[in-house]
Amino acid sequence: MGFTPKLNTVIRCIAAASLLAGSLFSSAAVAADEVNVYSYRQPFLIKPMFDRFTKETGIKVNTVFAKKGLVERLANEGRNSPADLIFTVDVGNLSNAVDAGLTQSVQSDALNASIPSEFRDADGHWFGLTNRARIIVTSTERVEEGLITTYEDLAKPELAGRICTRSGKHVYMNALIASMVAHHGEADAKAWLTGVKDNLARTPQGNDRAQVKAISEGECDVAIINSYYMGAMQSDEEQSEWAASVNIVFPNQDDRGTHMNIAGISMTAAAPNKDNAKKLMEFLASDLAQSMYAEQNHEYPVNKDVPASGLVRSWGEFQHDTLPLSEVVKHRVTASKMVDEVGYDG
Ligand code: FE
Repeated sequence: MGFTPKLNTVIRCIAAASLLAGSLFSSAAVAADEVNVYSYRQPFLIKPMFDRFTKETGIKVNTVFAKKGLVERLANEGRNSPADLIFTVDVGNLSNAVDAGLTQSVQSDALNASIPSEFRDADGHWFGLTNRARIIVTSTERVEEGLITTYEDLAKPELAGRICTRSGKHVYMNALIASMVAHHGEADAKAWLTGVKDNLARTPQGNDRAQVKAISEGECDVAIINSYYMGAMQSDEEQSEWAASVNIVFPNQDDRGTHMNIAGISMTAAAPNKDNAKKLMEFLASDLAQSMYAEQNHEYPVNKDVPASGLVRSWGEFQHDTLPLSEVVKHRVTASKMVDEVGYDG
């Protein structure tokens, strides 16, 4: 019996040690200075900003990058998901996450001050961080200046057989068509889309840059693309020739302005590191991060105190459509059905 007290002590010690270890692990999981991001945006774009955030705050940013499937992953993980933030392009993708119940509202005076109201959700479920204009590009050789000044002009009979675009189902096209529904109503938007379809040079195919290449090769004269692709092509040895074959048109300068979309961010419904996540969101909308972001990707800073890069500014100033994107997204389903109804994709 002489060793029993000793054994008890050992057991007590093990129990105390495991309790201590348990509390250490759980406090590490909840209160560690970190934030977890699921990102569709490429590492080269956002890593420099995350590194700077860590340097300034001591909060570590863990990132999962993927080209697709992150929203599905978030849904599958449910309440156990480690993700605090999702980072993606296009208000359509952000809306999908909201509609699936995967996001939560964030209220922040700093975000509201930095981001114009048309580029954030009124309920705080998504915030734009950069802007891209959906521009029209026209052949320098075959389209006279002034022939096309609006999206509506794309339905002009003079353009029969001269327009190239990607699929009408792609999120970039979907948002533009949804904005036409928002401004003109369903019937007029459908008449317009039918007119554009009748003017197509070929069945919609390829990405935005492929349309500019097609113009440079003489296959069509007019295309609709996101503005940053002009920057990407102008900075690329092979593709700069494609970019040089077109003029940029910022549509609708005499009325509502050019349609713009966003790359943005949402806080997840189950975010385990809410405070850190909010800090990172606010940092990303700050002047410092906005200027880093703008230099990387030829996009427009959403924070109007921050200038675009020199290359982007060389394309000229323009007015943008200030109808809130939260209004535009209400017409996404209608726009998608319309693409089928007019047989846009062939
Ligand atoms: Fe893109």
